[in-house]
Amino acid sequence: MRGTVFNNLRENKEVIKKLYWENEFPMQEIAKHFGCSRQSISKLSKELEINGVKTSSRCIREKHQGWKGGICKFPRNGIIITTGRNKQRLEHALIAEKILGRNLRKGEVVHHINGNNYDNRNENLLICTQSYHARFHHKMSDIYMREHFN
Ligand SMILES: [Zn+2]
Repeated sequence: MRGTVFNNLRENKEVIKKLYWENEFPMQEIAKHFGCSRQSISKLSKELEINGVKTSSRCIREKHQGWKGGICKFPRNGIIITTGRNKQRLEHALIAEKILGRNLRKGEVVHHINGNNYDNRNENLLICTQSYHARFHHKMSDIYMREHFN
Protein backbone atom coordinates (compact mmCIF):
# COMPACT_ATOMS: atom_id res chain seq x y z
CA MET A 1 0.00 0.00 0.00
CA ARG A 2 2.73 2.38 1.08
CA GLY A 3 4.83 1.47 -1.92
CA THR A 4 2.04 2.41 -4.31
CA VAL A 5 1.74 5.87 -2.79
CA PHE A 6 5.48 6.42 -3.07
CA ASN A 7 5.56 5.20 -6.64
CA ASN A 8 2.71 7.49 -7.56
CA LEU A 9 4.57 10.43 -6.04
CA ARG A 10 7.81 9.44 -7.76
CA GLU A 11 6.06 9.24 -11.11
CA ASN A 12 4.72 12.75 -10.60
CA LYS A 13 7.99 14.23 -9.45
CA GLU A 14 8.09 16.95 -12.09
CA VAL A 15 4.51 18.02 -11.37
CA ILE A 16 5.18 18.09 -7.65
CA LYS A 17 8.33 20.17 -8.14
CA LYS A 18 6.39 22.63 -10.23
CA LEU A 19 3.57 22.87 -7.69
CA TYR A 20 6.03 23.40 -4.87
CA TRP A 21 8.52 25.80 -6.42
CA GLU A 22 6.49 27.72 -8.95
CA ASN A 23 2.98 27.68 -7.53
CA GLU A 24 4.17 27.73 -3.93
CA PHE A 25 1.94 24.91 -2.81
CA PRO A 26 2.79 23.86 0.73
CA MET A 27 3.50 20.16 1.23
CA GLN A 28 0.11 19.81 2.91
CA GLU A 29 -1.64 20.96 -0.27
CA ILE A 30 0.41 18.70 -2.48
CA ALA A 31 -0.46 15.79 -0.22
CA LYS A 32 -4.17 16.61 -0.57
CA HIS A 33 -3.77 16.84 -4.32
CA PHE A 34 -2.28 13.36 -4.50
CA GLY A 35 -4.49 11.85 -1.83
CA CYS A 36 -1.71 10.93 0.54
CA SER A 37 -0.45 12.12 3.89
CA ARG A 38 1.88 15.03 4.38
CA GLN A 39 4.28 12.57 6.01
CA SER A 40 4.56 10.58 2.79
CA ILE A 41 5.51 13.74 0.93
CA SER A 42 8.10 14.79 3.46
CA LYS A 43 9.54 11.26 3.54
CA LEU A 44 10.18 11.60 -0.18
CA SER A 45 10.97 15.31 -0.13
CA LYS A 46 14.65 14.78 -0.80
CA GLU A 47 14.01 12.50 -3.72
CA LEU A 48 11.36 14.83 -5.09
CA GLU A 49 13.76 17.76 -4.70
CA ILE A 50 11.39 19.82 -2.62
CA ASN A 51 13.35 19.61 0.59
CA GLY A 52 15.50 22.19 2.27
CA VAL A 53 12.87 24.86 2.76
CA LYS A 54 10.79 25.03 5.92
CA THR A 55 8.73 28.11 5.24
CA SER A 56 7.02 29.35 2.13
CA SER A 57 9.28 32.38 2.11
CA ARG A 58 10.03 33.34 -1.43
CA CYS A 59 13.48 34.71 -0.59
CA ILE A 60 14.56 31.35 0.75
CA ARG A 61 13.05 29.59 -2.22
CA GLU A 62 14.91 31.71 -4.70
CA LYS A 63 18.25 30.92 -3.14
CA HIS A 64 17.47 27.25 -3.49
CA GLN A 65 18.84 25.40 -6.51
CA GLY A 66 15.37 24.06 -7.29
CA TRP A 67 14.09 27.54 -8.12
CA LYS A 68 13.89 28.00 -11.87
CA GLY A 69 12.15 31.35 -11.96
CA GLY A 70 8.48 31.86 -12.53
CA ILE A 71 5.51 33.94 -11.64
CA CYS A 72 4.34 34.66 -8.12
CA LYS A 73 1.30 36.55 -7.03
CA PHE A 74 1.49 38.95 -4.17
CA PRO A 75 -1.73 40.47 -2.90
CA ARG A 76 -0.37 43.95 -2.34
CA ASN A 77 1.90 44.46 -5.30
CA GLY A 78 0.43 42.45 -8.11
CA ILE A 79 2.18 39.86 -10.19
CA ILE A 80 5.91 39.53 -9.77
CA ILE A 81 7.99 37.99 -12.49
CA THR A 82 11.45 36.59 -11.97
CA THR A 83 13.50 37.80 -14.90
CA GLY A 84 16.80 36.36 -13.80
CA ARG A 85 18.70 35.13 -10.82
CA ASN A 86 17.83 37.47 -7.92
CA LYS A 87 15.99 39.76 -10.34
CA GLN A 88 12.28 40.45 -9.93
CA ARG A 89 10.06 42.91 -11.69
CA LEU A 90 6.42 43.77 -11.32
CA GLU A 91 4.60 42.52 -14.38
CA HIS A 92 2.55 45.70 -14.75
CA ALA A 93 5.75 47.77 -14.77
CA LEU A 94 7.16 45.64 -17.58
CA ILE A 95 3.94 46.05 -19.57
CA ALA A 96 3.88 49.80 -18.98
CA GLU A 97 7.46 50.06 -20.20
CA LYS A 98 6.57 48.15 -23.31
CA ILE A 99 3.70 50.57 -24.01
CA LEU A 100 5.89 53.60 -23.32
CA GLY A 101 8.81 52.22 -25.30
CA ARG A 102 11.18 53.20 -22.51
CA ASN A 103 11.95 52.33 -18.91
CA LEU A 104 9.84 53.85 -16.16
CA ARG A 105 11.57 56.91 -14.72
CA LYS A 106 12.17 57.48 -11.08
CA GLY A 107 8.93 58.65 -9.48
CA GLU A 108 6.70 57.08 -12.12
CA VAL A 109 4.29 54.41 -10.96
CA VAL A 110 1.64 52.26 -12.56
CA HIS A 111 -1.88 52.45 -11.19
CA HIS A 112 -4.50 49.73 -11.68
CA ILE A 113 -7.63 51.63 -12.65
CA ASN A 114 -10.14 49.02 -11.46
CA GLY A 115 -8.21 48.43 -8.25
CA ASN A 116 -7.30 44.85 -9.13
CA ASN A 117 -3.52 44.61 -8.97
CA TYR A 118 -3.59 41.38 -10.94
CA ASP A 119 -5.47 42.88 -13.87
CA ASN A 120 -2.65 43.88 -16.19
CA ARG A 121 -4.65 44.53 -19.33
CA ASN A 122 -3.34 47.65 -21.10
CA GLU A 123 -6.60 49.52 -20.57
CA ASN A 124 -6.41 48.94 -16.84
CA LEU A 125 -2.98 50.50 -16.45
CA LEU A 126 -2.39 54.19 -15.82
CA ILE A 127 1.12 55.56 -15.66
CA CYS A 128 1.45 58.52 -13.33
CA THR A 129 3.81 60.22 -10.94
CA GLN A 130 4.12 59.02 -7.38
CA SER A 131 2.63 62.21 -5.95
CA TYR A 132 -0.31 62.16 -8.36
CA HIS A 133 -0.82 58.52 -7.50
CA ALA A 134 -0.88 59.23 -3.77
CA ARG A 135 -3.33 62.11 -4.25
CA PHE A 136 -5.44 59.92 -6.48
CA HIS A 137 -5.71 57.19 -3.86
CA HIS A 138 -6.39 59.79 -1.21
CA LYS A 139 -9.23 61.20 -3.28
CA MET A 140 -10.59 57.74 -3.96
CA SER A 141 -10.69 56.90 -0.28
CA ASP A 142 -12.28 60.31 0.39
CA ILE A 143 -15.05 59.53 -2.06
CA TYR A 144 -15.43 56.06 -0.61
CA MET A 145 -15.67 57.42 2.91
CA ARG A 146 -18.24 60.01 1.87
CA GLU A 147 -20.34 57.45 0.02
CA HIS A 148 -20.25 54.84 2.74
CA PHE A 149 -19.98 56.63 6.05
CA ASN A 150 -21.69 59.97 5.72
ZN1 LIG B 1 -2.92 52.94 -7.58
